[in-house]
Amino acid sequence: MGKIELNHITKTYEKDVTAVKDFNLEIEDGEFIVLVGPSGCGKSTMLRMIAGLEEITDGEFKMDGRLMNDIPPKNRDIAMVFQNYALYPHMSVYDNMAFALKMRKFKKEEIRRRVTEAAKVLGLEEYLKRKPRALSGGQRQRVALGRAIVRDAKLFLMDEPLSNLDAKLRFQMRAEISKLHHRLKTTTVYVTHDQTEAMTMATRIVIMKDGVIQQVGSPKEVYDF
Ligand code: ADP
Ligand code: ADP
Repeated sequence: MGKIELNHITKTYEKDVTAVKDFNLEIEDGEFIVLVGPSGCGKSTMLRMIAGLEEITDGEFKMDGRLMNDIPPKNRDIAMVFQNYALYPHMSVYDNMAFALKMRKFKKEEIRRRVTEAAKVLGLEEYLKRKPRALSGGQRQRVALGRAIVRDAKLFLMDEPLSNLDAKLRFQMRAEISKLHHRLKTTTVYVTHDQTEAMTMATRIVIMKDGVIQQVGSPKEVYDF
């Protein structure tokens, strides 16, 4: 499950800074939503409110019917992948992926099962003992995805996860993330300013401008090809 309802969501930082204004969207379980729009249009703010890292000024966020506004981030069953994937440099790939589960007091065998499975899905089996500095950019990005996958969360949030990669790797990782989504079918909200990413990955695209939704539709509907 992972049905999301965003009803009249507004975020005001200070008196005059309304980053998101009356945002309305229903996301069905298993969708891959791409939020796209120019820098400063409110994409990250929207994502951070869903994650619980930013307070919602006004409106309701529901997940599978449950009101989430006041639920702390650690109880939200949401996994997030950032642009700066911030792996722990002193920890192995295995321990990077296991960390969130250790913090949540998962049993050792369950941690091992999940990390091994995620490593298999992401083609990281050979690299589990390595430190992040001994990995390529693409491999590091896979570890960052692995940390999200092992959580087995209801919702993935991704904030420009590919923008630090070169063009070739971006192309490759785009395909991999899509493949991953086909396999796991976890509801995903993905933020980018890159229209190609939106076009190739989204089940539906949400175009934002100045904190407001301008258009919602399938890639075909939005980009008219
Ligand atoms: P995007 O992710 O689309 O680049 P943001 O959500 O980061 O946009 O920003 C939306 C607007 O909110 C911008 O005008 C930005 O300056 C403002 N903003 C973002 N974070 C803060 C903050 N912590 N305090 C005040 N204003 C902020
Ligand atoms: P134990 O503490 O019983 O020896 P753990 O499961 O805690 O076993 O593993 C100890 C450490 O060994 C982990 O923190 C991790 O660094 C490493 N490790 C465990 N399983 C693997 C694996 N499949 N591949 C690589 N490293 C592993």
